Amino acid sequence: MINRETLHKIKSNLPPNTKLVAVSKFKPVETILEAYNEGQRDFGQNRPQELSKKMDELPSDVRWHFIGHLQTNKIKYIIDKVFLIHSVDSVKLLEEINKEALKRNLKVNCLLQVYIAKEETKQGLSETELTDIVGSKERFEAVRICGLMGMASFTEDKEEIKREFSYLSNLFDNIKRDYFSNDPYFQEKSMGMSGDFEIALEFGSTLVRIGSLIFGER
Ligand SMILES: *Cc1c(COP(=O)(O)O)cnc(C)c1O
Repeated sequence: MINRETLHKIKSNLPPNTKLVAVSKFKPVETILEAYNEGQRDFGQNRPQELSKKMDELPSDVRWHFIGHLQTNKIKYIIDKVFLIHSVDSVKLLEEINKEALKRNLKVNCLLQVYIAKEETKQGLSETELTDIVGSKERFEAVRICGLMGMASFTEDKEEIKREFSYLSNLFDNIKRDYFSNDPYFQEKSMGMSGDFEIALEFGSTLVRIGSLIFGER
């Protein structure tokens, strides 16, 4: 059972340029279908094989977002299926995605995941790694870099979360100005989850990734 009311409430309160990605990881296909039947089309998964399997069982107009850590040997499971990979967290991964996309004659939409939290456990690029990538982005010819993603610290401290989203938002503006001023694709800021999406919206999130509020605890 999904939380229909919450789904519709979140959606109707989003700004016009912000989309809801319903994070359906570990949830059965029937549950995802319930959300689909409420009009939801964007779904997030964090395991390649799970995404690949669900993709086969659900309508073809679902837009699949990959939001988890992606090992290079798993790229093949999702590369021709995903609408957007949110979680490119190393140069190596981007190179491998590019290589695989070239082979298959694809253009793959990606976000660069930036490390913004205080915790050691969260994945992501440092600012230096990020500028190295965007500074040589022409070599990733089969990749379309569509923006940035970040995960804030898991904390009750709202000021800390604000600092982290503010940092990501400023970084986005600077990167956009310095490297993508003529590129309409670079437009997404993927930030905000069940516990902090309202703060993320204050800082201009364009993609909120919400799981437990809609689908219940995992
Ligand atoms: C699980 C997950 C989410 C959703 O988390 P909730 O707290 O359930 O909303 C969002 N983003 C990423 C990267 C996740 O792994």
